[in-house]
Amino acid sequence: MKARYLRRKRKRYIVLFVIAAVAAAVFCIVKLARPQVIEPNDIAQDELSTYLTLAEETGTDWRFFACAVRFNGEIDEGIINSAGNGEIAGGDDAAFIGCLKSYFFVDEEQLEAYVFRLSLLDSIIRNGGFPVTGDYHYSDTWGAARTYGGERKHEGTDIMCDAGTHICAAAPGKITRIGWNELGGWRIGVTDKNGAYYYYAHLSGYASGVKKGVYVEQGDVIGYAGDTGYGPEGTSGKFAPHLHFGMYYNGEAFNPYPYLCYWETSPE
Ligand SMILES: [Zn+2]
Repeated sequence: MKARYLRRKRKRYIVLFVIAAVAAAVFCIVKLARPQVIEPNDIAQDELSTYLTLAEETGTDWRFFACAVRFNGEIDEGIINSAGNGEIAGGDDAAFIGCLKSYFFVDEEQLEAYVFRLSLLDSIIRNGGFPVTGDYHYSDTWGAARTYGGERKHEGTDIMCDAGTHICAAAPGKITRIGWNELGGWRIGVTDKNGAYYYYAHLSGYASGVKKGVYVEQGDVIGYAGDTGYGPEGTSGKFAPHLHFGMYYNGEAFNPYPYLCYWETSPE
């Protein structure tokens, strides 16, 4: 009686094990077959800056330049001229891929796969806008040394502006964090549909209706610039007023600077 029970039990474990193994195999095959999306930290900042600068200068979809490097190995004069002539359709993937076919002598499948790989970055770039209105100035302060709260590297861009300057959502998304943070002072964290996280710190106050769980659109005023942080709740005046703007993906910070430069000058 007991032996039969044990045998049946063992059989059940074997069946479960086989199901799990098959599921894991299917998962791996699907994952391998699908091209991996390029994440923000997979691309060198200089490279992204080049694509975005050329996109601005020529009014062309930035992915065209990324494809030139991927499939031709470089961005030559011909590519820049074609872009400047307005020959490249942007926006709609199908139209864009159609255009690419006459520039890059690779299979349509390869073009589609690469355009898919660029989709996350493209969504972040396309859906964004500059978060500060009025007078401001900023430079690339990514990685600069910071000492408050221990030695650390600066994980964002400081946009210097007067206290009270309107701060807008750089991207649409849901407010997932809000309140006091020792480093960030009064801060807001917004998560977009891709899972990218946008962090706004040192605010003097929040716009009305801004609270956890609320969805914001790009350009919505969410708060006001200030100089809060670097201490217990309510601390202010430890540095000049500015917006600290951070961007994160999968919990990892990436440099907002190239995106800000692009949003600053790109048409809405
Ligand atoms: Zn900062």
